[in-house]
Amino acid sequence: MKNYKGKNKKQWNNRKRRSSNKKKKVKVDCIAIDKQGKGVAKINEDNVSVPYLIEGEKAVVEVSKKRNYMTGKVKNIEKKSEDREVPKCPHYYQCGGCQLQHMKYEAQAKFKEKTVKGLLGKYGKINEVITMDEPYDYRNKIHSTFSAGKKGKVISGIYEQYSHKVVPIDRCIIQDPRADNIIATVRKLMESFKFKPFDEDSGRGFMRHILIKTGNTSGEIMVVLVVASKMFPSRKNFIKALLKKHPEITTIVMNINNRRTSAVLGNNERVLYGKGYIEDTLCGCVFQISPKSFYQVNPIQTEKLYSKAIEMAKLDKRDIVLDAYCGIGTIALILSSNVKKVIGVELNNDAVKDAIRNSKRNNIKNAHFYQGDAGDFMVQMAERKEPVDTVFMDPPRSGSDEKFLSSIVKLSPKKVIYISCNPVTQERDLKYLTKHGYNVKEIQPVDMFPHTYHVETVVSMVRKGK
Ligand code: SAH
Repeated sequence: MKNYKGKNKKQWNNRKRRSSNKKKKVKVDCIAIDKQGKGVAKINEDNVSVPYLIEGEKAVVEVSKKRNYMTGKVKNIEKKSEDREVPKCPHYYQCGGCQLQHMKYEAQAKFKEKTVKGLLGKYGKINEVITMDEPYDYRNKIHSTFSAGKKGKVISGIYEQYSHKVVPIDRCIIQDPRADNIIATVRKLMESFKFKPFDEDSGRGFMRHILIKTGNTSGEIMVVLVVASKMFPSRKNFIKALLKKHPEITTIVMNINNRRTSAVLGNNERVLYGKGYIEDTLCGCVFQISPKSFYQVNPIQTEKLYSKAIEMAKLDKRDIVLDAYCGIGTIALILSSNVKKVIGVELNNDAVKDAIRNSKRNNIKNAHFYQGDAGDFMVQMAERKEPVDTVFMDPPRSGSDEKFLSSIVKLSPKKVIYISCNPVTQERDLKYLTKHGYNVKEIQPVDMFPHTYHVETVVSMVRKGK
């Protein structure tokens, strides 16, 4: 629905809301950093969130009230923190993909350690965060959206924070740099082939997004072209021109997404060149990665994370291990040579198929994968009183559930290794397990996503009395 000057209803409402806000400038002291990496300033009795301000800094901020909370925008920093540095990315303040680039990398690591300490400190000492030696160029999965620029130019990048306007980005410093060049070529080719970027409001146009996945050790590159219709005009010539410029591309997939949705990928796919997936080696095992399968985005840190988790478990050749929320079977397959048997359970059917394929690919015979809800699966295992020595669990951000956790207690494995990308839900689940028979042994944060506020944490637990 269109409104004044072509704005849709949501944009128009936002505009009205914004204009009715009263803004005022205030001098503030930043007293803390919240879990999202935003500064916190006290104004009168209120805690005001001030993005990009660092604890200890003094600044003039413009305060505005949004619904029932206040936010501040930095206008001038009067006292700078020693932790501050100039962001390396020119798009940093617009893009929103990173939240900590205004902080030195060592300070980012300290912030993450502090976040984990604040939440999990009551369960034990927190190890120093495992950082990345070169905290750039790490992402192996790159997504960019196409949009119409001025004078028939095609732009690509990511949506601006809180909006659907594409911020043009030529180089993203946390992504595999090989992807930027390919995306630039696709933009140029779109112009010469007269392929219009898809327009969300009108539903017209052809090219929607590009998704690139790169293999860290294999060097393989998959390009997924997300288009709005099955008809790909001059398909062969387009692919030929792209490969001529980038012979390093090993496979090209067309994904058809004709829905009005913010989801990037549609359901239909067609392989246009190569085998339709890439392979990569992680901790000595080879994994097949298809356009939709989940694979950790920072392969260098993933090796450190998995190695640490496996080391914590002190596995024995006679052990039976459960890998819950196993995705494409990475953890299960990597540890399989250390144990008697490993069972993986995962909700996503495609991921389970990948896991089974990956076990064959690596000639692993003692790993078995099942599709289902991890909680239901555990309940059944507990009813059958199946022996399990160690449980690895790596749930999504929402964490685990009581069904799963209570079945752990029933099965009573000697050890539980809990990997999480969200210390808030991990804390909730640890509360349950420590109340019901487990002691926390070690807590290890790992920086999987430098320059963002995210932190991964592995916690090892042992059954009480062991
Ligand atoms: N351990 C894997 C994947 C972790 S991501 C790796 O490191 O690569 C979390 C996984 O949990 C996803 O693959 C997701 O599909 C799966 N998942 C989400 N809810 C689930 C549930 N209720 N039961 C089982 N798996 C679930």
